[in-house]
Amino acid sequence: MAILVLGGAGYIGSHTVYELIRAGREVVVADNLLTGFRAAVHPKARFYQVDIRSREEMGALFDREHIDGVIHFAASSQVGESMTNPLKYYDNNLWGTTALLESMIAHDVKRIVFSSTAATYGEPERVPILESDRTEPTNCYGETKLAMEKEMRWTERAHGLRFVALRYFNACGAIPSGEIGEAHNPETHLIPLILQVPNGQREKISVFGDDYPTKDGTCIRDYIHVTDLAQAHILALDYLMQGGKSDVFNLGNGVGFTVREVIDVARKVTGHPIPAEICPRRAGDPAQLVASSEKAKQVLGWKPQYADLETIVASAWNWHRTHPHGFGDGRVK
Ligand code: UDP
Repeated sequence: MAILVLGGAGYIGSHTVYELIRAGREVVVADNLLTGFRAAVHPKARFYQVDIRSREEMGALFDREHIDGVIHFAASSQVGESMTNPLKYYDNNLWGTTALLESMIAHDVKRIVFSSTAATYGEPERVPILESDRTEPTNCYGETKLAMEKEMRWTERAHGLRFVALRYFNACGAIPSGEIGEAHNPETHLIPLILQVPNGQREKISVFGDDYPTKDGTCIRDYIHVTDLAQAHILALDYLMQGGKSDVFNLGNGVGFTVREVIDVARKVTGHPIPAEICPRRAGDPAQLVASSEKAKQVLGWKPQYADLETIVASAWNWHRTHPHGFGDGRVK
């Protein structure tokens, strides 16, 4: 029996596949390669280039493989883009998940772990954020992820499918062995953009807003290492396999860093001055997102191994320094 990883050629998906294979699991990867990279897929995983929105392609995959559980990363995930092109997010994230759930039910596959996000909370009522806190997304990306969570609940009632939704805070870093790392096209995330400066690909980093109600005016985020996120997916799937009930878990380190602080850590790690320029706020950005992950620690037994921001940025730098063009397509923007 195999684990099906949807979006296994993307950033968090590819890292999860590496950890699954390291743990001796049989892995099938499905990815439409619109944003993922074939080279990011572990050579021991069986790869299918399919789109979760295609019932035909997904049906053929489920017919061919014996799938025990699904880990679902296949989604669009850029806050800014979701504000300018919301229908893309409804199509890929919500409609994609609907089609996937139909395929799963038709093939009697009833366990799924999937990527949710801190963006489901919107502007938090307090930090650290608990899973039971108010969810009122301020961007369309978070809105579609929250809708996916609700869709899973109703599907569970009707069809008995059990799920774990993992609300990530800010995923970053790269596998310590350096084989894979973060590569988006175009890149929009803070740490890889900062590291483009010492890599000679960007002159300076833009800071989106310095008038937020935070200690230095820039946004606060909770940065969590991608390998720690990967481990949480494996624990969540095992939890479901052992009969665990459907649930939602935050995944973060519980410590917030401002944009300026992240830039300072990158200066220290790379030894480069990394010039920064203050720019207008980016639409849809809450001032502060910091997780309480006590529930994941208690229920899933999750223990982040790379909690220190300097260690996280150093692992990212190790990847970007040695792979300035990501997976080698030369399209880094
Ligand atoms: N950010 C920034 N400059 C950039 C990219 C991001 O100041 O070039 C800020 C962004 O406004 C947010 C934080 O860095 O406050 C993290 O953004 P990212 O896109 O990495 O993750 P998100 O919080 O959107 O999931």
